[in-house]
Amino acid sequence: MFGSENVPITPGMQRYIDQNNAYLAARDKYIRDVVKKWKFDTIAVHGLYSVQDAIEDYQGAIIEPVFMSSSQAYRDSDEMAAALGYLIPTWCYSRIANPSTYYYEWTLALLEGYGFDGETSCCSTSSGMAAIMTAVQPFLVHTKHDVREPRNFLATAQCYGGTFQQFNVRMMQERDIECRWITDPTNIDEWAAKIDENTRFLYGELPSNPGQGFFDIQAVADLAHSHGLPLICDTTVASPALLRPLCHGADIVVQSATKSLTTSGFGVCGAVIARRNLVCNLDNEDLKKDFALYVKYLPNRDYGPNLHPMQAVLTLNDMRTLRSKMDLMSRNTMKVAEFLQKHPVVESVAYLGLPDHPLHELASKYMWLVDAEYDEQYGKPVNRYGHLMSFCVKGGAQAARKFFDGLERIWRATDLGRIKSVATIPAISTHQQQGEEGRKLAHIPPNMVRLCVGAEHPDDIIADLDQALSAVGSKVSVAAGA
Ligand SMILES: *Cc1c(COP(=O)(O)O)cnc(C)c1O
Repeated sequence: MFGSENVPITPGMQRYIDQNNAYLAARDKYIRDVVKKWKFDTIAVHGLYSVQDAIEDYQGAIIEPVFMSSSQAYRDSDEMAAALGYLIPTWCYSRIANPSTYYYEWTLALLEGYGFDGETSCCSTSSGMAAIMTAVQPFLVHTKHDVREPRNFLATAQCYGGTFQQFNVRMMQERDIECRWITDPTNIDEWAAKIDENTRFLYGELPSNPGQGFFDIQAVADLAHSHGLPLICDTTVASPALLRPLCHGADIVVQSATKSLTTSGFGVCGAVIARRNLVCNLDNEDLKKDFALYVKYLPNRDYGPNLHPMQAVLTLNDMRTLRSKMDLMSRNTMKVAEFLQKHPVVESVAYLGLPDHPLHELASKYMWLVDAEYDEQYGKPVNRYGHLMSFCVKGGAQAARKFFDGLERIWRATDLGRIKSVATIPAISTHQQQGEEGRKLAHIPPNMVRLCVGAEHPDDIIADLDQALSAVGSKVSVAAGA
């Protein structure tokens, strides 16, 4: 598929190619006729790993085996030549492909593509940051053999701190690639005004971490496509259980699978999921035809940000119950947000699920619990807004830290999407390195607390918040009385 035109094909190689083409045709038919007809939960539980695969190839193992092997052996030189020429599916070397990561990739491709009328594919990466790098770099190449060729892209200013650093420092400062920050992504005119002939792609995080920025995916995708540009979305916070941008016109999704997808907290990993035949203004047919496989087999082969097979299976295992966990954690977060909203020591609460949030209506258009209509409990579509919320403590940065230090059950950590409730102060953690100016751009005040509610009973989380807030409240009133 990639680079095959350079490889002379012997009759022996052709036999392997024919065998594998038959295998691929059968696999695609299985996807089309069986897997694509399943509900989300069934795909999450089984992915492409079938009873037949297990019995024929993997000693009947009911769970995807962890292939802790650096490389694959071949029957003969013909098979090796065909595999290394990417003419047949291959596990040639674990930096490029591995059976465990293969099952992880297919599950994610199918979950992000759930409800999307078209084909999707996925490239696993060692982290969410590696996924972002993998997704954006191929669009930023020089096309005119001129190192001064101007290149730019658009990105939502409200984004994860690491993304801000990658775009601001690595791209802009070190490589002269301009990132044009979108300060109000709900304003389609701002996006439109910042596109020019040197723009390569549009990038948006939603809901953003921690500010819960949101935008109209379909409108931004339509704008991007009208300029021949792809839209890349980071929907780490929502996960495909609540939001699938490919269904709304986006071309590529990046996931920090570390977060919602690996709820247990067992490690760091990422993924790039793309639709086939994406929109792009570069002259690169392989890239357009199957972006995720292109980056997997070519740029990532050469850069090496691959996922470890052990991690792939740990995450895969967490993903099987994604939908029900995202539902539970969303409901718990809603209860906690409602409690905080009424608390006298809390200045403001930001949660997309609260009806008075300025983006509530827009988020409600996009954020739905997948398959709620087939759920015994609901029987109709229901909105769910995820586990991420933030709030500001009255009394400024000092009061926020006092409250934070008083937490007993909620963990103080820069983490999110955990089965356990976790809180952080973004200004001193995730968003420390970007400085005052960058934090202003991303709307991060110093007294903001980011809280991700887990799967505990919400009453116990509320009790912990209550005791930590009352300590601040009494301090504030004692100081006022003195
Ligand atoms: C954490 C995070 C990332 C980076 O992911 P890592 O797995 O930590 O590299 C990217 N985007 C968002 C929204 C995140 O929350």
